[in-house]
Amino acid sequence: MSTTSLPGAELPVIGFIGLGSMGSGMVRNLQKAGYRLVVTDIRRESADEAVAAGATWADTAAAVATGSDVVITMLPTPRHVSDVVHGSDGILAGIADGGTWIDMSTSVPDVADRVRGDEAHRGLHILDAPVSGMSVGAANGMLQIFVGGDADDVDRLRPVFEAMGDPDRILHVGRHGAGYAVKLMINQLWFSHLVATAEVLAVGTAAGVDLGVLRDSLIASPANSNFIERDVLSILENGDYDEGFAIALACKDLGLSVDLARSVGVPTELSSLVEQVYRRAKASYGDRAGEMTPFKLYEDLLGTSLRLEPAMTAAAV
Ligand code: NAD
Repeated sequence: MSTTSLPGAELPVIGFIGLGSMGSGMVRNLQKAGYRLVVTDIRRESADEAVAAGATWADTAAAVATGSDVVITMLPTPRHVSDVVHGSDGILAGIADGGTWIDMSTSVPDVADRVRGDEAHRGLHILDAPVSGMSVGAANGMLQIFVGGDADDVDRLRPVFEAMGDPDRILHVGRHGAGYAVKLMINQLWFSHLVATAEVLAVGTAAGVDLGVLRDSLIASPANSNFIERDVLSILENGDYDEGFAIALACKDLGLSVDLARSVGVPTELSSLVEQVYRRAKASYGDRAGEMTPFKLYEDLLGTSLRLEPAMTAAAV
């Protein structure tokens, strides 16, 4: 089995674990780029499309690791990552000495740190490479990827990342763990933008200002943001709260972010408040509600949905 992706060499076989909202699109793009895949998931049906396109199904994470050169995990939480790595049929039971594991989940360094410590003698290459870009970015191969780890590994694996992400936005952000930290900070800021924007639009419209006029005024002001200019439109135009990213996972990310802040000794009053708003929305609308449903808490308070008139939308774009 090849272990290199030098020009002209056979492409490495990719093992992929976790074919959910994100992983399914990432696998499809790896296949399109010519990689052979070995896949598993606790939901067998999640791999149907990949298997139909030529991927090999494996019953366990250990079998994925045995049958591949590079193992990628795309799993919900650090606990899932730990189970898949350390379990009796886990990656460590199958991966060859000197093998490569890339965790692309939004997670924390603990699992990989433990592997680097306990399995140091095995010479494993481990990278954290979480992503931004939502399920649509995974589907169209335009993810942003934030990679933490050794530069040599990042260079060697760049073609694999480029099969899933935007080549201009695949960033080597530092040593092991830096990718996880960057990703958590991005989500923390974006969720904070969402809650702040919901508050402002709710108060302004309750005070009698037309929603479109209020939004246009904010865009023209020093308080403008990418969120109010672009991302909020999925709600204001379509009532779409992005069910492609479940609020349970958003709450997981916010919890990890606040934990990270605690571990490095930085007080984060605002992040903790945003986490509580998100947890309220999760309790109100259920684990599978979209990541933008905290906005709906404010709409429920107003007793009306915040929606732009179609003509106003056209004018604003
Ligand atoms: P998901 O819940 O849709 O998919 C996770 C997949 O992992 C599921 O198919 C599940 O069956 C599988 N799985 C769970 N435990 C497993 C195990 N023990 N063995 C094998 N498979 C297992 O989640 P997602 O939305 O694809 O997110 C995956 C990761 O990417 C999360 O860390 C999330 O925070 C992050 N992320 C998600 C988005 C998004 O928009 N959905 C965007 C950026 C990052």
